[in-house]
Amino acid sequence: MSTPIHELFAALRGKFTGHLLRPEDSGYGDARKIWNAMVERQPGLIARCADVADVQLAVKSAAAAGVLTAVRCGGHSLAGFSSCDDGLVIDLSRMRSASMDAAARRARFAGGSLLGTVDTVTQQAGLVFPAGVVSHTGAGGLVLGGGTGWLTRMFGLSCDNVEGFTLVTADGSIVHASGRENADLFWALRGGGGNFGVVTEFEVRLHPLNSVLLATSYCIGDDIFRILRDWREFMPGAPDSLKWNISLRLAPSTPAIPAEIRGKPAASLSLAWFGEPEEGNRCIERAFSIGKHFARTKETMSFLALQTMADADFPHGRRYYTKSGYFTALDDRTVQIMVDALPSIPSPNTQIELAYLDGAAGRVAASETAFGDRSAPFIMNLLADWVDPKGDAANVAWVRDLFAALRPAMKPGVYVNFMSGDEQDRVPEAYHERWERMVKVKSHYDPTNFFRLNQNVLPKNAQRKE
Ligand SMILES: Cc1cc2nc3c(=O)[nH]c(=O)nc-3n(C[C@H](O)[C@H](O)[C@H](O)COP(=O)(O)OP(=O)(O)OC[C@H]3O[C@@H](n4cnc5c(N)ncnc54)[C@H](O)[C@@H]3O)c2cc1C
Repeated sequence: MSTPIHELFAALRGKFTGHLLRPEDSGYGDARKIWNAMVERQPGLIARCADVADVQLAVKSAAAAGVLTAVRCGGHSLAGFSSCDDGLVIDLSRMRSASMDAAARRARFAGGSLLGTVDTVTQQAGLVFPAGVVSHTGAGGLVLGGGTGWLTRMFGLSCDNVEGFTLVTADGSIVHASGRENADLFWALRGGGGNFGVVTEFEVRLHPLNSVLLATSYCIGDDIFRILRDWREFMPGAPDSLKWNISLRLAPSTPAIPAEIRGKPAASLSLAWFGEPEEGNRCIERAFSIGKHFARTKETMSFLALQTMADADFPHGRRYYTKSGYFTALDDRTVQIMVDALPSIPSPNTQIELAYLDGAAGRVAASETAFGDRSAPFIMNLLADWVDPKGDAANVAWVRDLFAALRPAMKPGVYVNFMSGDEQDRVPEAYHERWERMVKVKSHYDPTNFFRLNQNVLPKNAQRKE
């Protein structure tokens, strides 16, 4: 143990009511792991906080000892920001709980909650909080970065539905931010990620919803291009009740997929409809009428089934690398570059994920929250996903090369939650004209950049350390 970590452990021991794990302790090996196996870190100490007082103690003590500190909720940071070598991990996994006032359509959840923690509580009253599409993702990181998912077009981003945050700031104080209190901080927390403190409680608005009509299919060959053309033209006028995502990938080699298309470049379509079934059926059949569709499904399912259906597709412990961007429009050349890249995908799990945002999220003014661009509705995430470390170079290169080819057509900007760990230079791009305001809020609440393991906003007069 290095000296600062030793000092930190001594400061916490006896006062910290949660669980402290050092490298020699049993359970440390599992506790240090995060979702993305590409990021292997050996923290000097993991502090599993039991409550807000533990968070305050950990922050104050780490700041005093000058120990590099990471904050972990669900551990799903694609960039691996929720761990570090030799430093402290403030692990919020024991602070997972949610409660709701169904009549007021409001919920509160603790800073370590997963999406599933929130959904299982709110669905008891047929209510939803709009968030992401995999239930084992941490709500902490997802909401603070923005939060897109099936309900973005219906109800806005996750951060658009937050009414208040309680956080422990860099000096260990407890601060509340809402539309009425610390309004600048409230603005910055809605999209600004983990830059401003450890959020211990989120207060959010809920919406009524308990079922969804979901249709899926695969198209191959020339139909990939035809479907993408139709999608890009249809979505700008589509009702908010429709969320239609397309992933370009190699068709999976699973029993549900016909043998004739397995392993072939394909467009995987998912259409979720949240309105009147009749209109939804019309939208779905219209989409299915273009080209030949394989492995077609259409079913009404519970919201909880929708929220957990992709859980097994993105397991903990595989290797992941990502790059993301926005497009105002998808021209033929851009589509062609994506389609041309499919045959050389190095891993069967890798995908070009495409979604059309807009809807309720697009109607929030750009100045209302720190979250990045809302004017370029097409969002693309290149997500490489593989198992064998020997595949690292090929998978990372495939993403980087494709990104470089597509970059000229993108609108500058990036969603911070879809960034990899080697893109710190793109953070100002994520906030555009909001950058100066972000720096001002950061400089006020975290002048020494204590919270720096994130898509980092450097405070005025601070030097970049790691
Ligand atoms: C399988 C998978 C599915 C995903 N699906 C979606 C999706 O549908 N929509 C979407 O928008 N994004 C999605 N993402 C991206 C996701 O939003 C980010 O990876 C996010 O950072 C995950 O949050 P986490 O709490 O699990 O991360 P962690 O790794 O725990 O933390 C990530 C960052 O957030 C900060 N942070 C986390 N909790 C707190 C807190 N309570 N207080 C202060 N800072 C905190 C950390 O310091 C760190 O910088 C997905 C990611 C994965 C891996």
